[in-house]
Amino acid sequence: MVLTIERTKLVLPGPITKKVLMIPRTITTWQSLSWQEELSQLITDPETLLDLVQLDKTLLPQAKKAAELFPLRTTPSFARRIRPGDINDPLLRQILPIDQELHSPMEYSTDPLAEVHSTVAKGLIHKYEGRVLLVAASQCAINCRYCFRRHFDYAGNTPSRGEWQAALTYIQQNDSIEEVILSGGDPLAISDKQIQWLISEICQIPHITRLRIHTRLPIVLPSRMTSGLLDILSQHRLQSVLVVHCNHAQEIDEEVSNALQAIAQAGITLLNQTVLLRGINDDANSLTTLSKRLFSARALPYYLHLLDKVNGASHFNVEESDAIDLHRQLLASLPGYLVPKLVKEVPDKPSKVPINY
Ligand SMILES: *Cc1c(COP(=O)(O)O)cnc(C)c1O
Ligand code: SF4
Repeated sequence: MVLTIERTKLVLPGPITKKVLMIPRTITTWQSLSWQEELSQLITDPETLLDLVQLDKTLLPQAKKAAELFPLRTTPSFARRIRPGDINDPLLRQILPIDQELHSPMEYSTDPLAEVHSTVAKGLIHKYEGRVLLVAASQCAINCRYCFRRHFDYAGNTPSRGEWQAALTYIQQNDSIEEVILSGGDPLAISDKQIQWLISEICQIPHITRLRIHTRLPIVLPSRMTSGLLDILSQHRLQSVLVVHCNHAQEIDEEVSNALQAIAQAGITLLNQTVLLRGINDDANSLTTLSKRLFSARALPYYLHLLDKVNGASHFNVEESDAIDLHRQLLASLPGYLVPKLVKEVPDKPSKVPINY
């Protein structure tokens, strides 16, 4: 059966849109590379990264070894925001492979969320009521060392275009599903054409009312947020939510801030999630500064996640009692709407689990 859905096109206020949406289609004025060019120039060699951030080569052997387990990967744009010569830089620590990744305590695993049990079709995870998560891309522009999907079998779980049908059919046949979440990998790493096709397929399913995109690209590759992409993400009948992933205020330079504001300006609800990471953002000052900086770019803090216990990331873990102390400090120093919900993932629970205290 072919369903025809009336397309209620989002009408953006003309003059305001023109004023704020200053990101041109491909080439930005403040940098000369298109996002595709930048994506083809990712830094994947530990030696190149150490040179760029002016750090000594004694770190190279361990970086190479840890990169064998999970490759180094960053955009030049993200790397440029690292302070040179500082081994403790909060951005560098998120991407530089180190020795500590080679050893993991017993309670750590390769699939800490047990996503395997909730996979209902290739690339489709149905774990929570009313919403499904679609693994729309197999890669990210950056490999975050703490990533809970660092061992994820993308090859086996990313549907090719021909295989999307099974996932779409599942969604179509389950009218309790109201929201489709595009995740990955990074769903915005695929082409505009593919994203447009996927959204139009999702729009054909009458019981879907919301489209959510979880992406780190506006942060790590802000040139990706072209006005062409923003049109695709906002001009359809669904309500749109975009959740970025940013862990530290230093990640938000002017270009990122412009990209975030352009998303909000397109009428998309803009939220952020953060992972609480030892040595990166586990202090009240970092987290309050992050919330304020996000809000100045029109993003609201959504979740502050405890680390998922994935092999190779144990050195980032913050104990629950310390996380609670930090959260109390945030409540005491920020307006309520700038305090993210403190949560963790517990396999087989019906939602992310709030840390109550
Ligand atoms: C986090 C997550 C969601 C969304 O949960 P919200 O609490 O609505 O943000 C959906 N599906 C999966 C598998 C998730 O991990
Ligand atoms: S962007 Fe997200 S999915 Fe990709 S490596 Fe980082 S944490 Fe993992």
